[in-house]
Amino acid sequence: MGKIVQLDEHLSNKIAAGEVVERPASVVKELVENSIDANAKRIEIEVEEGGLSLIRVLDNGDGIEADDCVLAFNRHATSKIKSEQDLIQIRTMGFRGEALPSISSVSQVELKSSTGNGPGTYLYIENGKVTKQQQTNSRKGTDLTVRNLFYNTPARLKHVKTIQTELGTITDLVNRLALANPDVSFRLKHNGKELLHTSGNGNLLQIIAAVYGIQTAKNMIPVSCTSLDYEVTGYIAKPEMNRASRQYISLFMNGRYIKNFALSKAIQNAYHTFLPIGRFPIAILSVKMDPTIIDVNVHPSKHEARLSKETELVQLVENELRKVIKAQQLIPEVNFEKKEQKHKETDLQSSFSFEYRQNSEESKPEDSADFLNQKIMHPVETPIKFQEAEKINEVVDTLLETKHIPETNEKVTPLSENPEISNEKIPVLYPIGQMHGTYILAQNEKGLYLIDQHAAQERIKYEYFRKKVGQVERELQLLTVPYTFEYTAHESAFIEDHLEFLRQVGLFLEPFGQNTFIVREHPQWFPKGYEKETIMDIIQQVLDHRRIDIKKLREEAAIMMSCKGSIKANHHLRNDEIFALLESLRKSEDPYTCPHGRPITIHLSTYELEKMFKRVM
Ligand code: ADP
Ligand code: MG
Repeated sequence: MGKIVQLDEHLSNKIAAGEVVERPASVVKELVENSIDANAKRIEIEVEEGGLSLIRVLDNGDGIEADDCVLAFNRHATSKIKSEQDLIQIRTMGFRGEALPSISSVSQVELKSSTGNGPGTYLYIENGKVTKQQQTNSRKGTDLTVRNLFYNTPARLKHVKTIQTELGTITDLVNRLALANPDVSFRLKHNGKELLHTSGNGNLLQIIAAVYGIQTAKNMIPVSCTSLDYEVTGYIAKPEMNRASRQYISLFMNGRYIKNFALSKAIQNAYHTFLPIGRFPIAILSVKMDPTIIDVNVHPSKHEARLSKETELVQLVENELRKVIKAQQLIPEVNFEKKEQKHKETDLQSSFSFEYRQNSEESKPEDSADFLNQKIMHPVETPIKFQEAEKINEVVDTLLETKHIPETNEKVTPLSENPEISNEKIPVLYPIGQMHGTYILAQNEKGLYLIDQHAAQERIKYEYFRKKVGQVERELQLLTVPYTFEYTAHESAFIEDHLEFLRQVGLFLEPFGQNTFIVREHPQWFPKGYEKETIMDIIQQVLDHRRIDIKKLREEAAIMMSCKGSIKANHHLRNDEIFALLESLRKSEDPYTCPHGRPITIHLSTYELEKMFKRVM
C-alpha cells in the first residue's frame, strides 16, 4: 500500500501559517491589509501583551456578506482575484486567500462583519473550525479579534521574542502602513495606551510628524518625479537630520511596503558625501506603477517584489534625490549658523568642518598607507626630555575645547621625572612641521614619524571620555534653557523604561508631556558645543540597538564623543600645539590606533630611509 496521504485542510493551514504568520506583527499586517482592501477609511488596532494575548482590528470598510463569512476562512478563498490574468495585475494588498485560514489555525478568532445591508454576521473559530455562528448588529465594517496566538503551536511560541520586541515590530509596521496610506486614519493602542493616531486627511507630512516627531517633519524635503513607467512622490530628510540605521527608509510600491535593496542603495548613494560614514537618511518614498511591471507574488508575506524595469527606477530615484539634496546644500545657513552659535567658531573653522564632512571619504588616513614602505609604529622605549611640559595642559585644554579636565589639571612634572610614563609606549618626538594641514611630521633618532592629527586627537579624547563616562559624578552644568527631545510613542515608552539606565551615562531625562523629554542639566565634561547632539546620539544608540549593556554603551558613547569637535583635516596647528598633542598621545594607553581602529602613527626608520637613498646596502 502507498504511503502518501492527502493532508487535511486544518493541517495544511497550520503549515501555511508557518510562513504567513511568523509573529504577532504578521497577523496585524494581514488584518490591516484586508481592511485597506475593503476600502476602509478608519482602522483601529488594539494589541495586548505584544499581540500574544490579543490583536483586534476594527474597520469601517465594505464588510463581508453573510454567505462569505465562513468561506473567508477556507484555504485559497479570496474575493480579490478570479483568474490567471488577474494574478499579473494585482491591485489589492491580498490575493492569496491564505491569511484568515492560517491565522485561525493557530489562534482563537472572533469575527463580526456587516456590509451595512441587513444584519451582520458573528463567527467564533477555534482550531480552524467554526464553533459558533449567529447574526449580529449591522454596523458597516469588520471587527476581527485574534486571541492567544500560537497557543496550539508551542514551537512557534518559543520563537516569539519579548513583548517589547514584538510590540516594536508591530509599531514599526503600523507606522509604515500609516505612512503608505495618508488618506486612511490609523489608531494603534497597546494595553490601552495609544501609540499612534493619524487623521487620514491625506497629509503625509502630518503622518511623518506623528511617527517621527515634529522636528523631523520640519526637516523634510518634498520629492516628486516621473519617468515613462514610474511616478515617485514622498519626502526625504535634509542630510543633517540623519540616523544611525537604515530602518528609517520606507519604500512603498503601489501602496505596499517593500524591502528593495537596489532602491535603498540608490537612496543612500544620493546622499553620498553629504552624510557622515555610518549614518543613514530618513526617506519615505511612494512609487506608483502599472501593476504588470511588479510581481509581488515572490514571498508569502509579500514584503519583497520583482520589478521588470528596476534599473529605470533606480536611476530615476538616485538622480532626483541627488538633485534635491544638492539644491538644499546650496543654502548654507543650517550648518554654519548652528555651529557658530553653538561654539562660537569663526567662519573659517565652520567651513573646515563642513569641508571635512563633505570629503570625509577622501581624507581617510588609509589613502596614504601605501606611501613608501612605512610601518605602523611599534612600542619603543627611549628616555625623554621635554622642556615645555608646563605648557601642555594649557594647549591640551584648547585642543579639547573644554575647560574642565581635572585629571590633567595637576601640575605637570617634567616628563622624564614622571613615573607614570616610565613605561610609555612611544618615544618623545620632535615636531618638524605639518603637511597639508592634516599630518604632523616629527622626528627623533629612530627616524621619521607621520601622525594623523585627527586620529591622534580622537584617541586622546576617547580615553578622556571613556574614563569620564564610566564615573557617575554629579558635577552638573545647569542649562539656562533646557533641551527638549521628541520621540515616537513607542520610542518614548522605551526611553521611559530606561531612564535610570540613561542616568548611568550622564543623561538626566525627565518626561515632559506626550512623547517629549527635557534635560535641565548635563555633566560638565560633555563635549563643548555638542551637548545636545551628544544626548541625542546616545539616546539613538540605545533605541537603535535596544542596548542595555552599560559597558558597551559607555564604550560607544566615548567613541562618539571623541569624534565631536576633534581637529579636522586642513587645520593648521602651531608648533606648541603639535608638541602638546604628541605629548598627550604618548601618555595615552593605546597610542597606536584611533577608536575606530585606524592607525595614528606611521614610522619610517632612519635605516629604511638610508636604504632607500642607497646610503646603506
Ligand atoms: P486575501 O486577502 O488574500 O483575499 P484573506 O484570507 O486575507 O485572503 O481574506 C479572505 C477574504 O475575506 C478576502 O478576500 C475578503 O473578501 C474577505 N475579508 C477579509 N477581511 C476583510 C475585511 N476586513 N473587510 C472585508 N472583507 C474582508
Ligand atoms: Mg488578506
